[in-house]
Amino acid sequence: MRSPADPFDLPPDPFNKEDDPSFFLDPVDPPMELSTEDLVEIQTELRELNMFKKILGSQGIRGLVNYCEDCGEFHYYDWSILLSHYQQLLVERQSQPHEPAYGVDPSLYVSWDYCRGYCDREMFGKPNPFRQEHRHENS
Ligand SMILES: [Zn+2]
Repeated sequence: MRSPADPFDLPPDPFNKEDDPSFFLDPVDPPMELSTEDLVEIQTELRELNMFKKILGSQGIRGLVNYCEDCGEFHYYDWSILLSHYQQLLVERQSQPHEPAYGVDPSLYVSWDYCRGYCDREMFGKPNPFRQEHRHENS
């Protein structure tokens, strides 16, 4: 415990952990090691997300749905959550787990692949052939 302040006391040491209010919060994960390829990929996906939000958001789609292996359920994420997740990854090299949206209308959420296909057709009038190949590789 700190004794009553002496006029000649130094200001509280910000690095003194016992005085640091964040000491009582959950520890933060250390920043992730991200390679240049990782960063390029994250930037690419962030650009895509912005495009999805612009094109599909204007159609009333609220975000993406993702199958979660851990709980065996679908998780729904709003555009704003997804964008902040990617921005946080780029800036802080870490992303706090974000709560999936709860009690949502599943018909307003689509998959990443659906977004890609939809946006390719919007922009090129047909599915992007390069993307088609890529998708075959992955499946
Ligand atoms: Zn889950």
